[in-house]
Formats: sequence, C-alpha cells, structure tokens
Amino acid sequence: MNSWVPLLPEETTAADNAAPLDITRLLTTITDNLVGMIYRCRIDAIWTMEYVSEGCHKLTGYRPDELVFNNRVSYDEITLPEDRERVGLTIRSALDAGETFDVEYRIRRADGRVRWVLERGVGLRDAYGRLAWIEGFIQDISERMAANEALQEAVRRYRSLFQNATEGIFQTTPEGRYLDANPALAQIYGHRDPAALIAHLQDISRQLYVLPERRAEFVRLMREQGVVRNFESQAYRCDGSIIWISENARAVKDPDGKVQFYEGTVIDITERKQHEAALEHQASHDSLTGLPNRSLLRDRIDQAIVKAKRDNHLVAVVFVDLDHFKLINDSLGHHVGDRLLLEVATRLAGCVRTHDSVARQGGDEFVIVLTEQHDENEVLALVSRLLEVISQPWVDGGQEYGLSCSVGVSCYPRDGSNPDELLRCADAAMYKAKASGRSTYHFYTPELNQVISERLELENSLRHALERNELRVYYQPRIEVASGRLVGAEALLRWDCPGRGLIPPDSFISIAEETGLIIPIGQWVLQEACRQNSAWQQAGLPPICISVNISPIQFRHAGLAMSVSGALAQAGLPASCLELELTESFVMHDAERINVCMQSLKVLGVDIAVDDFGTGYSSLSYLKRFPVDRLKIDKSFVRDIDIDPDDAAIVRAIISLGHSLGLKVVAEGVEERAHMEFLHKHGCDEMQGYYFSRPLPPADMEALLRSLAGDGCRSAQDPHPADPFLCMKENSE
Ligand code: C2E
Ligand code: MG
Ligand code: MG
Repeated sequence: MNSWVPLLPEETTAADNAAPLDITRLLTTITDNLVGMIYRCRIDAIWTMEYVSEGCHKLTGYRPDELVFNNRVSYDEITLPEDRERVGLTIRSALDAGETFDVEYRIRRADGRVRWVLERGVGLRDAYGRLAWIEGFIQDISERMAANEALQEAVRRYRSLFQNATEGIFQTTPEGRYLDANPALAQIYGHRDPAALIAHLQDISRQLYVLPERRAEFVRLMREQGVVRNFESQAYRCDGSIIWISENARAVKDPDGKVQFYEGTVIDITERKQHEAALEHQASHDSLTGLPNRSLLRDRIDQAIVKAKRDNHLVAVVFVDLDHFKLINDSLGHHVGDRLLLEVATRLAGCVRTHDSVARQGGDEFVIVLTEQHDENEVLALVSRLLEVISQPWVDGGQEYGLSCSVGVSCYPRDGSNPDELLRCADAAMYKAKASGRSTYHFYTPELNQVISERLELENSLRHALERNELRVYYQPRIEVASGRLVGAEALLRWDCPGRGLIPPDSFISIAEETGLIIPIGQWVLQEACRQNSAWQQAGLPPICISVNISPIQFRHAGLAMSVSGALAQAGLPASCLELELTESFVMHDAERINVCMQSLKVLGVDIAVDDFGTGYSSLSYLKRFPVDRLKIDKSFVRDIDIDPDDAAIVRAIISLGHSLGLKVVAEGVEERAHMEFLHKHGCDEMQGYYFSRPLPPADMEALLRSLAGDGCRSAQDPHPADPFLCMKENSE
C-alpha cells in the first residue's frame, strides 16, 4: 500500500494545515472516480468478484452489488463466450509465472452492448502462500480499439492501393536506392516482383535513367522545390529496352527538415510518346514519300543558314520539278503518279549526303537543301548528277517511262537570307529551266523575277483568251507523196494575245495543261476545225481531212468521245474528214485504258494518228493492238534525213514498220526538196512541212484550196509535185 502514498512536500501550505491529509478518503475518491473498474476476484471458474469499484457501473452497466459475489451476474458471464478461453489462459499462465497480466477482450454490458476492455492484474496469495485472488483494473478501450481498427483498415486499404495500383509507386533514398516499390513499378521496369526490382536497382541514376543527367535534374528539383511533377525521362527496363516514364514525386522530411526519402509515382508513357512522335512526324513529313514537308523544309533551311553563317559556307536550295508530271498523273492515273513520286524521292535521297535534306514541297516539286557548300561548282556537280539520276528510265508494271526534271538553284547568302527568299529564287530559276526546254537546270539571277512574273501574267491572260475570242486555228497542208495532192491539213492553235502578237502553241499549251484550261480550249479547237472544214466543203472546195492535236489530258478526260461526236454533228461534218493526233509518248502508256478510249473514238469513224513518232518510249507491239491509222514521223528525224545516215535509217525503218502494220506514214518538218525526194523514194505516204507551206490562217488556207480546186489534182508522175505550194510561203506566218 505504501506505493499509493504520495510523498508530502516539506513545506506545507495554510490550507494543508487547516485540513489534515486523509489518505483513505483520498484513495476512495480516486477509486470511485476512476474511469474503469478496480476489482478483486477469486481465482475460480467464474471469477467471483469480492470487490469492484464504483467504475463498475459505467464499465459494465451493472451496479457493483450486482456483480459482487455473483449476486446477479458473474464476471465470467459478462465476458464474451468467444473470448473466455483465451482470457483464462492468458491470466492463468501469467499467474503461474508470477507476473502481472494484460489482456484485451470483450464484455457484454447490462444493456447488451459489447465493449472492448483491457484488464491488467496481478495474483494475490493467501496466508498459506496459495494463489487465491487477483487484483487489478479493467478499463473500457472500445474507442481506442475502434480507432485502431480504423487505422488497420486504412493501412489495409492503402496497402491494397499500393499493391494493386496501375501506377508504379516507389520510395527511394536521395542517394538512389529503393526502399519500397509496388508490383506495378516492378512490372513497368520489367522485374518479376518488387523484391527483384529493389535487389537489382542499386544505382538509379546509372541503371535506370538513359540519361543520368535526368536523375541529377530530378534530385535538383527535389532539393530546390521538394516536388517534381510530370517529370518525363527515358528509362531502361530490366531487359535493356527503353521506355518513356513520367514521375510525380515529393521529398519526405523528418521533423527537423532533413530529407528521409523520396516517394512518388511512375507511369509508362511510351505509347503516348510514340503517338506524339507519330503525330509530329505526320505534321512535318509528307505522307506519300515520308520526306520532310514544306514546314520542316523551312526549319531545315533555317538551321542550314545558322550553320553556314558560323562556318562561312554556302547553302544551296535546289528546286526540282518533274517534267510533264501532270500529264503522267492525269493520263496514267494517280496510282502510277504516286509510284513515280516515290521513285523520284528515292533517287533524290540517293544523290545527297546525310547532312543534306530532301523535302517534298508538294505535287511533283521536291527541294534539296545542300549544306556545307564551298562554292557553286560543288553545287553544280550535285545538280548534274541529279539530272542524270532522274533521267534514267523508270520501269513500272512492265512498262518503261522516260523521266526528266527541271532544276532551279538559289544560294545563301547571295540570293536571299531566309527560307522564303531562297525558295522563291530557286522556284524562279526552276521556271527558267522549264522554259529553256526542260531536263535542265538554272541558277537564280535577279533578272529571273521578270520571267516569272511574265509567266504568271501569261497564265492569267490565257484564262480569258477563249471568252475574249483571242484563239486562232491555223492550217498546215498535208500532201500525198505519190500524187502531190493536198489531202489534208493539221489544225494548229495560235493565240492572238493583245500586246504580244501571235503566240505559238509551245509557249502556252503546257500552261493550259497545267491549269486544266486545255479541256475547254481543246474542245474549242475541235469545234472550230470541224466548223471550218465543213464550211469549206459547203463552199464547194475539195473535201480534205483535218487533223486536230489532242492533249493527253483531254484524252484522259471522260467526255472526249462525246465532245468529238458533238463537234462533228454540230458542224455537219462526216467523221472521215476528222483525224485526231495523239503524242506517242502518252499513247503507249496504260495500254488497256487507252485502247478502250481509242476504240470508242474509232466507233465514231474518225482516224487516229500517232504524232511525233520516234520520240517516245513506246513498245512497238502496242501499235499492232491500237486502232491507229497513221504514224507521223517526228520532224527531228526528217530535218537531216538527207545528210545523217542514222536519221535516214530511222525514217526508212519507220516507213517499213508502218506499212507492215497496215498504217499510213506521214513525215513532218519537210523543209527541203531533198527531204521530199527521200520520202518519195522510200514510199512515205504523206508529208507536211515548210517546203510546201507554213501553217496558214483560215483565209489563206481557203485561197490555197480554191487555187488547187481550180488547178485540179496533180499527178504522181509530176516531177515537181509540190510546186504549187511554194507560192503560198509568202502568205504564211
Ligand atoms: P505538232 O503536232 O507536231 O505540230 C507540228 C509542228 O511543227 C507545228 O508547230 C508546225 O508549225 C511545225 N512545223 C510544220 N512544218 C515544219 C517544218 O517544216 N519545219 C519546222 N521546224 N517545223 C514545222 P506549232 O504549230 O508551233 O505547234 C507545236 C505543237 O503544239 C504541235 O506539234 C502540237 O503538239 C502542239 N499543238 C498545236 N496546236 C495544238 C492544239 O490545238 N492542241 C494541242 N493539244 N496541241 C497543239
Ligand atoms: Mg500534230
Ligand atoms: Mg508532230
């Protein structure tokens, strides 16, 4: 009992003197007011209480007298049956060992509620030294238990979150060692389980981060801000593969502010990064060829300029435009056009060094950026190689195609100081190359701006040429070699452009083709030639067959047959008086479709001639299959027919080939008597050229027809069959 007696202070107060200390009363006060129950019980089967303090009522709901000596209920009864055995065992083993015991269990109160209690007690021996009682204290710990339970539940919940999270969760030391990791993190980094990850990753900065400086940056942010957010880095997985991760983490500090560890989450963002990269690639690259597109091209030029400034080099911007691409694309179809562009992209890429760039600017335009150039000769060497590489024949679907391109070059710093200026100059130079006959290159000079603006002006004026009635059809006679008779004429387009005079077709047909204006213009030529021919016939002039040139773009256009039959019907002209000329190079491609189209024209009754024969890359076997009536030998073979044995041999071969296929052969560009005599000698059927007449305006052609009608027909035996035409030369253009 001594231990219960408080020590008295040496100095006492006035109050102490007034009321002497009554220890028994003090203890009773304490005992009665304790939250909990002080007890003494027997060590029997039902823990018979001999004494319980006032706290009993609050603890159990029973009054002390109801519990003492089991008056109403025994303590064993109020102990929850499930806990009784455990409680008994715990107490008895402590008593046996002579120790105090602590035991937690549940009781059922008088009101039926179950409460958790903590009992703490010690055994007491009787006068014979036998263990007879227990004295102790029982307190309600339900609230603490509930709080504990809630804590346990929270821990379980957080553990489950940690275990099952799809995000990786980690705790690491600032030095880079793992303290804890969840299964998701192990999975992200390719480890069997967190333990394997923790065992393997001993040095995060070198084993995990592809760039160790990212870890340094992570630690720096942690030190300065205590957190990192959406921190993206590349990381090695266990198998060495590389992934992208995004981390959110914070530094956890002890109360003294010292960093204990880092904790945070990791997500694998590889897919998103790949998607972003794909989108970025898409936005900056051409989908067909995979080459950089317009916007990336500008970046590349910018970068090249920065570097050239520093190293005192040149940058060359080389504009490459395929010749006649629109024709190929329109006449052979987009699938062939696409394959051709891919081929060209590959060829161009093969011409440059790794630090140069090849980009597709759009359509059939490619741009090469040459860096680290010392002088123009170096640029020129590449341009020459490029022209040669592109001009190699291209084989597609068993068909061989001739390719060529026109190239314009501008150089930094001479021609411009930014991408736009350099591209504009290279473009202008490219147009100059095209105008100089294609398949060539041109370097930019300031005078070129003039050329470009003229071309644009021409294009604009051409748009109005039809409605302003500025187009004319000239007629060039075609002569039968054997008889010297005028048997036909070729309708040749001219443009009477105000302020520019008569413009020849070579200067504007390609613009008309590129802009699509060739469709209405070509239809107008057809109608005009048919109308004129019919008018001459109605005026009683000898009937002739007029041939009209058809652009491949018209040929591909679905409405050609209808347009031809419409022109014939409108003019009231027999179909036998109309012939259509198709250029060889395009006749021979896409044979099946062209055959179908030709057949539909043949059904109308018109003749078909292959123009400029010998210049294209045709497969002769198609000639047999196509419903063709005439071959027109290109004038380039005729020009030197009398002096160049090769040309002579070619022309002889074409004549005999044509005849063996049952076709008539026409020679173009007959300028001299010697040409005519050669053709006469080798059995060419018809001829056309300045020797007889230049293309004539309709009135002159009519006069010629009239004079011939008066003269009657020349005979084949006439030693000078072409003489009547000589007089016409003065009247022609
Ligand atoms: P093409 O169909 O081969 O026409 C023959 C060209 O040779 C004509 O040039 C003609 O004037 C020229 N020529 C005729 N005889 C001689 C000669 O003895 N010596 C020389 N050096 N040349 C001669 P033109 O009229 O300038 O026409 C050029 C080309 O323009 C034509 O070549 C044809 O492909 C095209 N073309 C003309 N009119 C039309 C048209 O209405 N539609 C289409 N799509 N193309 C046309
Ligand atoms: Mg022609
Ligand atoms: Mg021709």
